[in-house]
Amino acid sequence: MDVVIVGAGPTGLTLGIDLARRGVEALVVERADGLFPGSRGKGIQPRTQEVFDDLGVLDAVRAAGGPYPARLLWRDGEPVGEQRMFEEIPADEGTPYTEPLMVAQWRTQEVLYARLVELGGRVAFGHEVTGLAEDADGVSVRFADGTALRAGYAVAADGGRSVIRRALGVAMAGETVDPASFLVADVALTGLDRDHWHTFPAAGDDGLALCPLAGTDFFQLQGRFPAGTGTELSPAGVRALVAAYTHLTADQVTEVRWISDFRPRTGLTDRFRVGRVFLAGDAAHVHSPAGGQGLNTSVQDAYNLGWKLGAVLRDGAPEALLDTYEEERRANAAAMLDLSTGVHRGEVRRGRATVQLGVGYRESSLSVDTRTAPAGLRAGDRAPDGTVAGVRLFDAFRGPHWTLLGATAPGVRSLPAAPKSYGPGVFLVRPDGYVGWAGDTADGLGAHLTRAGVR
Ligand SMILES: Cc1cc2nc3c(=O)[nH]c(=O)nc-3n(C[C@H](O)[C@H](O)[C@H](O)COP(=O)(O)OP(=O)(O)OC[C@H]3O[C@@H](n4cnc5c(N)ncnc54)[C@H](O)[C@@H]3O)c2cc1C
Repeated sequence: MDVVIVGAGPTGLTLGIDLARRGVEALVVERADGLFPGSRGKGIQPRTQEVFDDLGVLDAVRAAGGPYPARLLWRDGEPVGEQRMFEEIPADEGTPYTEPLMVAQWRTQEVLYARLVELGGRVAFGHEVTGLAEDADGVSVRFADGTALRAGYAVAADGGRSVIRRALGVAMAGETVDPASFLVADVALTGLDRDHWHTFPAAGDDGLALCPLAGTDFFQLQGRFPAGTGTELSPAGVRALVAAYTHLTADQVTEVRWISDFRPRTGLTDRFRVGRVFLAGDAAHVHSPAGGQGLNTSVQDAYNLGWKLGAVLRDGAPEALLDTYEEERRANAAAMLDLSTGVHRGEVRRGRATVQLGVGYRESSLSVDTRTAPAGLRAGDRAPDGTVAGVRLFDAFRGPHWTLLGATAPGVRSLPAAPKSYGPGVFLVRPDGYVGWAGDTADGLGAHLTRAGVR
């Protein structure tokens, strides 16, 4: 076994897909008997839509959800005004997706799981990991039933309370973002339209909101209550809250499918890699759900790690390539933590900052720009869409390969030029859609390709 992935959440499933399509032998192991049933992270940001396009799941994810509705404020049983949820960002040829999609997390996970299985990947459900041991050649993961599994590498995608993180002794520094009590639940109800995110403010920032989950018959209930409020985590408790905070009666809540409480806090691990073990997704960073960054950042952790593991395990890239996962993703997570806290506190608007299209790796040791006077796109930037010789770039990028624009090199897919929007130069686009290398000509490209395991 090349890689064992602990946890079948969005992180583990995405990584499983990416490794499966690269021919890496990987197994996802999951404590629960099935996929997670709640709507939790329901915002799929534009950058994640691009990732999903590359992984072959965007159409299915779109079909499983829909657009975000406008917010509708209620006071004393009367609707008092609508608000757009997001700053409007015009789409263009380089950025075809600019609006978040709303998809219940359980549906996103169903789509990812179906794709994993389609690619020949597997999840071993009902396998709880209790610890692990590492030596020079591999990692042994231990299960609660006393069995063990050995692999070349292990990935902790086991969520915010990660057992692997604790077993490794990796610290997660952070702080409470908001001392209030929060509750999230999936409910079916009567008496509200499904075209609005119904919001029922109470004193201060407290209140309750009911958001129709596109593509389902349910609403996601989110509540913020005074610190110390002890809400009963039961259907009766949820019905009582709806009756207390809205004009609906308790019995208009016809079903409660899932309930969870939480206290928003930030946390970032000081390491994303310990030898042969990688931390990804919520196992490496936790934060407020405001701004919808968690699931998205987790998917992109997996997307960053997938091609690097594939390059080392399948294409003979130097092991040091794997160090760039922590270098690139930890810096990104640190910035995202500040962003989520800013949105939570009402200091940052949902829009350009939260769509994640600006995420990039200019500072990374993997980003090399040899141009004498770089202009336009820089090494480390996201490679935008565009058209070259009648070919759409996102079509050319789709798949596990690298793409070279403006030159040719053995073993690399090439297009004759970069679009004008890229600026002058030769651009090598990484498998995860970032410019890895830029030059005035292809001189010096060979050494970069060797480092990345392309040849
Ligand atoms: C209440 C709540 C609301 C949220 N709202 C939003 C939101 O609105 N927008 C947003 O973007 N994000 C939101 N998030 C965050 C989002 O859900 C997470 O960022 C995302 O699920 C992280 O994915 P993950 O795969 O890293 O971890 P998880 O989804 O937590 O998955 C971890 C998996 O590992 C499994 N596991 C755990 N321990 C073990 C073990 N020992 N052995 C085997 N398997 C194990 C778990 O069963 C689980 O399936 C919310 C989170 C919470 C808790």
